[in-house]
Amino acid sequence: MSEKGSFDPALEPYVIQSGKHAGESPTIWAFRNPRRFKRILRRREDEYRKAIRAGRDARKDRLHIALEWLNTRKPQTKVRCPFCNQGPVRFFAVLEENGIVQAEGRFTSCEALSCKMKMEEAARATGKYRMTLEVQLKSILPAYKGQADCRKLTSFMLVLMGITGRLDRDELHQAMGTSPGLMQEDRPTLPAEMLGQGSLFS
Ligand SMILES: [Zn+2]
Repeated sequence: MSEKGSFDPALEPYVIQSGKHAGESPTIWAFRNPRRFKRILRRREDEYRKAIRAGRDARKDRLHIALEWLNTRKPQTKVRCPFCNQGPVRFFAVLEENGIVQAEGRFTSCEALSCKMKMEEAARATGKYRMTLEVQLKSILPAYKGQADCRKLTSFMLVLMGITGRLDRDELHQAMGTSPGLMQEDRPTLPAEMLGQGSLFS
């Protein structure tokens, strides 16, 4: 099977066709092995840029297209903003204490600027506020270098997307493919408080 050519990564989860990662799913990497996801995406981007600079035939292979799609998706979340109790969560605050990365349901907000500002004010009041991230791999993955920290944040993203338990490639792909902003009837939302008052990660 050719690795080149146009294809739509939204249609089905891409599976690596050959090489040492054959049979693996970049959709799963994104959450379970975010360092590999980042490394392979960066390598593809570098090769693509080099080919363009050298005037060679620059084409993105399927893996590159699939990784880019996953990286830039803004998936629907299943959690309601704790400030307006309406819109789905779009942003969350990262807290840090003694180098330990934390994220909590009460420090999340919808896309409304007023809610985002209230969230950041509340997070700053803890003295542990570090940054605000969007629920998107492209926003989350560059924030930290280490696998453990990246995984804490991608795990929190999964919680916001309503995915718990074992990672299922098809379920994850479907959740990544849903658009933000639209509250769907079959995707009921939970109040952010239900994510617990304590830190999810400590
Ligand atoms: Zn809100």
